Amino acid sequence: MARTAIVIGAGLGGLAAGIALSRVGYEVSVYEKAHELKEVGAGIMLYPNAIGALRKLGAYEAVAAAGSFGRYGRYLSAEGKSLVELDLLEVGLEKEAIAIHRSDLQRALAETLGAEKIHLGMPLKSFDDNGKATAHFADGSFATADLLVGADGLHSVVRKQYVKDGEPRFANCFAWRGVVEGEFVGLPPETGMLIFGAGLQFGAMHIGQGRIYWFGAVADKKGSQGRTSKNDALALFENWAAPIPQLIGATDQDALLTHDLYDRKPIFDWGKGVITLLGDAAHPMVPFMGQGGCQALEDSIALGASLREPPNIASGLRKYENLRKARTANFVNQSRKSMASSMTKLPIACALRDFVLSKIPPKVLLKNLHTLNNYDMPDLG
Ligand SMILES: Cc1cc2nc3c(=O)[nH]c(=O)nc-3n(C[C@H](O)[C@H](O)[C@H](O)COP(=O)(O)OP(=O)(O)OC[C@H]3O[C@@H](n4cnc5c(N)ncnc54)[C@H](O)[C@@H]3O)c2cc1C
Repeated sequence: MARTAIVIGAGLGGLAAGIALSRVGYEVSVYEKAHELKEVGAGIMLYPNAIGALRKLGAYEAVAAAGSFGRYGRYLSAEGKSLVELDLLEVGLEKEAIAIHRSDLQRALAETLGAEKIHLGMPLKSFDDNGKATAHFADGSFATADLLVGADGLHSVVRKQYVKDGEPRFANCFAWRGVVEGEFVGLPPETGMLIFGAGLQFGAMHIGQGRIYWFGAVADKKGSQGRTSKNDALALFENWAAPIPQLIGATDQDALLTHDLYDRKPIFDWGKGVITLLGDAAHPMVPFMGQGGCQALEDSIALGASLREPPNIASGLRKYENLRKARTANFVNQSRKSMASSMTKLPIACALRDFVLSKIPPKVLLKNLHTLNNYDMPDLG
C-alpha cells in the first residue's frame, strides 16, 4: 500500500515538499487555507542553492522560463554612488540566480505537483498524532495519513500546537513591496540593485515578462503603523537616485504590500512522532539575505531524501530535521546580523558600511554566492 502524506500550506515550501514526497513514492495531499492560489506577493530572488533544489524537483525549466536571470548585481549608496558591480557569468553562474514573481513561482510548483493534489479553502485547526497523523479542518472535516508536514508559514498552526515558544519576534523593521511594468533608467535588463541609506534599504530587480519588483525596507521600532500608501514610501525615498522614486511612483496603489518583519530564534526540536515543520513554520528569518524561500526549497529535498527508505516514518522525519537544523539556524542568525549592519542609522556606521562594501573585491562576493551552491544536497533518487 502506498505511503501517504499531508502537507499543510501551499506556499513555496509546502508545494516543494509535496513534489519531493511524490517523487519518493508518497501519495500527497496539500491543504491550503486560501480559496485560490491567486496573484499574491511581489518578487522573490532565488539564489544558486534554490536553483539546485528546483532542478532536483524538476521545476527548474518552468521557473527559468517565467523569471529573469539575475546576472548583474549593483550595490549603491543612497546618492547613487556605485559601491559594487557583480557579474555572475564571471564565476560561471549562468542562469543560476533567478528573480521571479511569486505567483509565477507558485504556479510552476503547483503545476509540477499536480492541481489534483492541492485542496484549497481548507484551513487547518489542529492535528492528532497517534502513530498516524490526522488533520482537523475548520469545516469539521478531517484527513489521515502516515505523516504531516506543517508548511503553514510564519504563524504556523501546526507549530503552535506543540512548540511553546510564543509569538514570532518583531525585527524593528518593516518593508514595502511593489511590482511595476516598463523600462526605468538605471536598471538595465538582467540587473538587480541594492541601495543603502541610514536605516533604509531599497532593492529592485527584473522578474521576467517586462516586470520589475522593488522593495523598500525601513528600520523603525514602531513598525509600519498603517503606512500602506505609496506616498508613505515616497516620503522616505523621494530624494534617492533614479530609478527609485520613479519605481515607487509607477506602482499601482492597490498592489502595494506592506509587511512588518519577523523571525524566530532557532529551535532544535522541530518535530515529534509523525509530525514535522518546514520552511517559515520551522525557521522564519528576516529577508536581508534573501534566503527564507531558498531554505524552504532546500528543506523539501532533505525531507524527500530522508523519507525515501526510512526504517520507519518518525526516524525518517528526525533524519530530515537533523540534516536541516544547523544550516537553517545559521541563516536565521546571519540574516539578523546582515539586517543590523545594513540597516544601521548611525552616520559613522553608514559611512563605514559603504566604505567597506566599496573595498570588497567583487570576486569575494561572487565566491560567497557560489559557495551557497556547494551545499551537499541529498538526492531524491
Ligand atoms: C519582504 C520580504 C522579502 C523576501 N525576499 C525573499 C527573497 O528574495 N528570497 C527568498 O528566498 N526569500 C525571501 N523572503 C522569504 C520568503 O518569502 C519566505 O521564507 C517563504 O515565502 C516561506 O515559504 P513557506 O512556504 O514556508 O511559507 P509561506 O510562503 O508563508 O506559505 C505558507 C502557506 O500556508 C498557508 N497557511 C497558513 N496557515 C494555514 C492553515 N492553518 N491551514 C492551511 N494553510 C495555511 C498560507 O496561506 C500560505 O499559503 C522574503 C520575505 C519577505 C517578508
